[in-house]
Amino acid sequence: MKSPAFDYVRADSPQHALALLAQHGDDARILAGGQTLLPSLNLRLSQPTLLVDIGGLTGWRGVSVQGHASQARLRIGALTRHVEIEESPLVARHAPLLTQAAPHIAHRAIRNMGTMGGSLAYADPAAEWPACVLALDGTLVIHGAAGERRVAAADFFHGLYSTALRDGELLAAVEVPLLQPGERHAFDELARRHGDYAVAGLAARARWDGTTLHGLRLAFLSLGDRPLRARQAEAVLQAGALDETRLAAADAALRAELQPFADLTHSAAAKTQMAATLMRRAVRNLAT
Ligand SMILES: Cc1cc2nc3c(=O)[nH]c(=O)nc-3n(C[C@H](O)[C@H](O)[C@H](O)COP(=O)(O)OP(=O)(O)OC[C@H]3O[C@@H](n4cnc5c(N)ncnc54)[C@H](O)[C@@H]3O)c2cc1C
Repeated sequence: MKSPAFDYVRADSPQHALALLAQHGDDARILAGGQTLLPSLNLRLSQPTLLVDIGGLTGWRGVSVQGHASQARLRIGALTRHVEIEESPLVARHAPLLTQAAPHIAHRAIRNMGTMGGSLAYADPAAEWPACVLALDGTLVIHGAAGERRVAAADFFHGLYSTALRDGELLAAVEVPLLQPGERHAFDELARRHGDYAVAGLAARARWDGTTLHGLRLAFLSLGDRPLRARQAEAVLQAGALDETRLAAADAALRAELQPFADLTHSAAAKTQMAATLMRRAVRNLAT
């Protein structure tokens, strides 16, 4: 199938894009990497009359360290492509969770075009970046007619394909804290074939002092309508020295708190089992 006819404008500034959104309202769609939007147009799942291409907003593309000392953050522009994150030395040094996760996103051809901002704005619960940004306690930088506002990742994902972005707003960047001494990151997922969306996945970070995990954040993907923290399991795992008894208690806590959706191929019980397996693997990687 081919997409319905639409007009196309390449925005030359954020203000230009915002003005077009204000003028055309729900008839307009933002085009970033096009790797989700264009297939959905071809399938006629959406029929906008105007595409506003923000691909030329070069100021919203790239990775940098901003701020100093304890305030320093890694800033990733919304238009930074998946492959640029995968290959960035700055990302590998300061947020290795993202380096680990990137190769799991689709296939290389899609990673060459798709953007981090597009993935976060679309908020597919099976996508890798939303869970990573939640695990890293990231902040989403949003631009609108009233200026800039910042939203914590924990407050950004509202549900299936639903976020804190309001009509007429654009995601400009995401910022995450820099990796601290002793901090470890672990990403893993289970998919039917490499490049498929995950059946279950886990983005995790913690500090390890040789016996105990601290500051642990476990963010699962593909287990609900948005990326999900496993707070009960996190609490059990960092309540004292890590041993088999604690791991077994965390396993029980995780199974009690998760209520995954079944999907077309996997039951809720299978997904719960996968989540428990991913948690054990992540803990092994964080605590070595
Ligand atoms: C075959 C296939 C397999 C895939 N597998 C995976 C996978 O395993 N994991 C995964 O995470 N993704 C996967 N994707 C999706 C891919 O990662 C997309 O690139 C990504 O979800 C959207 O990014 P984009 O830049 O292409 O956005 P677009 O397709 O251009 O836009 C997506 C949506 O976000 C909005 N949008 C885009 N940028 C902004 C912005 N800055 N501010 C506000 N709104 C914005 C658009 O209006 C649109 O509604 C797959 C895609 C395909 C086609």
